[in-house]
Amino acid sequence: MSSIVEAIFAEIMPCGLYANRRMELQDGIFAGMAVLGEPFAGRCGYSHQLPGHNKRNRFSAQQLVYNCGGFGSFVERIYANDVDTDWTVSLNKRTFIKLIAAVTASPIVSPLLSWAAKKKLTNWAGNLEYSTDSLYSANSMEQITGYVKNQKQFKVLGTRHCFNNIADSTHSFLSLKSMDEVVVLDPEARTVTLNAGMTYGQLCPYLHSKGFALHNLASLPHISVAGACSTATHGSGEKNGNLATAVSALEMVTAGGEVIKLSRQKDGEIFQGAVVGLGSLGVITKITLDIQPTYMMRQYVYENLPLSELKAHFDAIESSAYSVSLFTDWLNNRIREVWLKSRVEEGQAFNATPAFFGAKLATRNLHPISELSADNCTEQMGVPGPWYERLPHFRMGFTPSAGKELQSEYFVPRKHAVEAILAIERLRDQVSPHLLITEIRAIAADKLWMSPCYEQPSITIHFTWKQDWPAVSKLLPVIEKELAAFEARPHWGKLFAISPEQLKSRYNRLPDFIQLSKKYDPHGKFRNAFLERNIFSS
Ligand SMILES: Cc1cc2nc3c(=O)[nH]c(=O)nc-3n(C[C@H](O)[C@H](O)[C@H](O)COP(=O)(O)OP(=O)(O)OC[C@H]3O[C@@H](n4cnc5c(N)ncnc54)[C@H](O)[C@@H]3O)c2cc1C
Repeated sequence: MSSIVEAIFAEIMPCGLYANRRMELQDGIFAGMAVLGEPFAGRCGYSHQLPGHNKRNRFSAQQLVYNCGGFGSFVERIYANDVDTDWTVSLNKRTFIKLIAAVTASPIVSPLLSWAAKKKLTNWAGNLEYSTDSLYSANSMEQITGYVKNQKQFKVLGTRHCFNNIADSTHSFLSLKSMDEVVVLDPEARTVTLNAGMTYGQLCPYLHSKGFALHNLASLPHISVAGACSTATHGSGEKNGNLATAVSALEMVTAGGEVIKLSRQKDGEIFQGAVVGLGSLGVITKITLDIQPTYMMRQYVYENLPLSELKAHFDAIESSAYSVSLFTDWLNNRIREVWLKSRVEEGQAFNATPAFFGAKLATRNLHPISELSADNCTEQMGVPGPWYERLPHFRMGFTPSAGKELQSEYFVPRKHAVEAILAIERLRDQVSPHLLITEIRAIAADKLWMSPCYEQPSITIHFTWKQDWPAVSKLLPVIEKELAAFEARPHWGKLFAISPEQLKSRYNRLPDFIQLSKKYDPHGKFRNAFLERNIFSS
């Protein structure tokens, strides 16, 4: 461990003192990773390349050689086992310290360590190997604008939780991961402004400690706020808009390197077009979100809701709590689990009875996939807790969901909810063998041009699949055919097979969105194959 401490000191010290000085350390840091379960063989050489410098130093694999050349971030290529490996990670001083802190203190290994332990840069689920390993980590506005001006094409990478190639690039990635601070909390205006590298997991405890809360969260807090809002990520609750509906202002760097600010109040329609931007308008650098006084919640789970009850009482079930999630494997004519999340406020609290539309109150915490341990799930059984520890299904600090999986999700107009659910139920024999679990949620309509809930209260039918793409890729068109009658819109960050023509016909504001993209990015700097195919190929 002493070498780790030495390395931390080296990082903390003003780098100028160490300019061009080579520090030779043992392989303690990487051995530390191995102790924590990352399958990384201990020895590696370590070098860095300063932005704007083409020369890359290479060091012996027998040592960890830390060569510090100045302030600011730098891109580093790591060589493992004395062989030029093919993955790149970006570190800056803060990230480096966090990384070491993760090694020594965290129950899980930081995402950066996970990247470092993998052979290739992949998305979270590991089903997608990105098309480049080149990743630049910025930690100032100057670095971001400089990078944007110098690159011909690139994508911003958030927390890599999309299952499709919406975030992919064949050129390079920009990461704002180390720009993860709250900029300002405005209690009067009831807003919080944050730097775009921040995750919900970082933001929510801070907000709660200051007496504030967000209106809703997704199933997991691990995702970046910017990445989640860019793809219209949602939670549940028929009166709750998706997470992007909380955005009241954005700061963005356009393709020319210009810093612009858009707000709900002053930019009207253009703002509504920019919030769910699919990463195609610019680099979001700051986000302002609506907040409200903090609140407590309780979560109850019921088991085995008969499908006949769901058919007969769908609206009553959906309106029974602040957030309702229905989990089903489509077998045995029943919904396996009903998750009800209610606010502990007068008039809003859910009164748990032993039975709920024929379902039975669970007597222990459950995972949505009931065969799995509920250790990574948020507390249930009516135990009150702060909003950010009840709205997500999965706890920060643990792997969410199942891990090795694929996901697809379709938004259907609320008025067709029961019909659409029954249409999928009829496919149960084809779907179930490949499914880990389905979740059905309700989301309020919004005004965001590229939101799947644009001017349409919706339900979502979500599929967590076993990680078997050949089988899933055959099933998706079958499901999409069944849902075509309802003009289902796919989740932007999950796997789908709907043709670009069909997609376009389901988004009235797509032509306006294309115009808006061209205004901020006339030459397609922020585009990739996903965007070219699904958005710009008209
Ligand atoms: C286990 C799991 C559970 C999930 N649960 C839910 C759920 O409950 N509800 C739901 O709706 N979705 C859910 N998702 C999907 C997830 O919320 C979305 O894929 C979301 O986009 C992930 O955010 P990210 O930062 O990881 O995005 P990334 O995959 O890193 O990026 C997504 C897009 O955002 C863009 N982007 C990111 N940051 C910026 C920026 N600063 N400026 C401009 N563009 C940017 C990227 O370029 C890309 O186009 C889940 C995913 C997983 C893996």
